[in-house]
Amino acid sequence: MCFRDAAVRLRAQTIWSGVSLEVAPGEFVAVVGPNGAGKSTLIKAILGVHALSHGEASVLGLPPGQAGRRIGYLPQRRSFDASLRVRGVDIVRLGLDGNRWGTPLPVADRFRGSRRRDRERVAEVLELVGATSYATRPIGQTSGGEQQRLLIAQALVHDPELLLLDEPLDSLDLPNQAAIAAVISGICRDRGITVLIVAHDVNPILSYLDRVVYLARGRALSGPPSEVITSETLSQLYGTPIEVLHTSDGGLVVVGHPEAPAHHSDRHTGRTHERP
Ligand code: ADP
Ligand code: MG
Repeated sequence: MCFRDAAVRLRAQTIWSGVSLEVAPGEFVAVVGPNGAGKSTLIKAILGVHALSHGEASVLGLPPGQAGRRIGYLPQRRSFDASLRVRGVDIVRLGLDGNRWGTPLPVADRFRGSRRRDRERVAEVLELVGATSYATRPIGQTSGGEQQRLLIAQALVHDPELLLLDEPLDSLDLPNQAAIAAVISGICRDRGITVLIVAHDVNPILSYLDRVVYLARGRALSGPPSEVITSETLSQLYGTPIEVLHTSDGGLVVVGHPEAPAHHSDRHTGRTHERP
């Protein structure tokens, strides 16, 4: 996958520009940045939902929007109502029956494939994400971490080459974040699937990452974590002093990270500046 000098404009506002990015097949990549930086917009540009206003992009060797089911996509978190009685296994099956949420394939298409093969595939991905034991419970009665595994299984059910996960660790506690990160990394490594994961905090996935993309102030920086997550590069990107501290257990603490709401005005001014 590759982006060259790409930009996206939404409602006459440039969300980001000058974004260049190269992702090799099988890589595990994180997209990190403050709220509103345009992380979900980047995922949607890869999907072809948002067209580029500048630059070029190639996704699985095709223009964005052409790769269809070769891409698995988990949208940014929706929560399930506690009273929802649909079972986890049904949610995963929806990934087979519908080409998109709410737009099922014509009935004839559904019956053409073998139902048993579908059942086996659903069972296989449930096993892959470790969700077999609660897949027949109503999804509204499963925990946040369990729901997230079921949704990842749904995104995987077509055996995609590229998996796009928008904040799959959001609103999970630390042990669940670590567990899901390990599941995703295992899928990437064992199946050779390229993974782009949007994350707020890079720490739970840091040890698995081949590449990280930082988005801030309408710009992006990408490269191996050791090159990108440094005091110097992040200070430059955010336009404010950032200190990256290394903890004894191999983690990183980013101090002065413009995550706090007080800094959100920065990105507004940053984004409206014309790039040189
Ligand atoms: P992030 O995922 O990093 O939090 P988003 O990509 O969701 O950021 O949003 C980036 C910016 O683009 C935000 O200011 C948001 O309000 C704006 N935005 C997102 N989607 C649309 C849209 N469909 N139309 C107009 N503006 C949008
Ligand atoms: Mg988002």
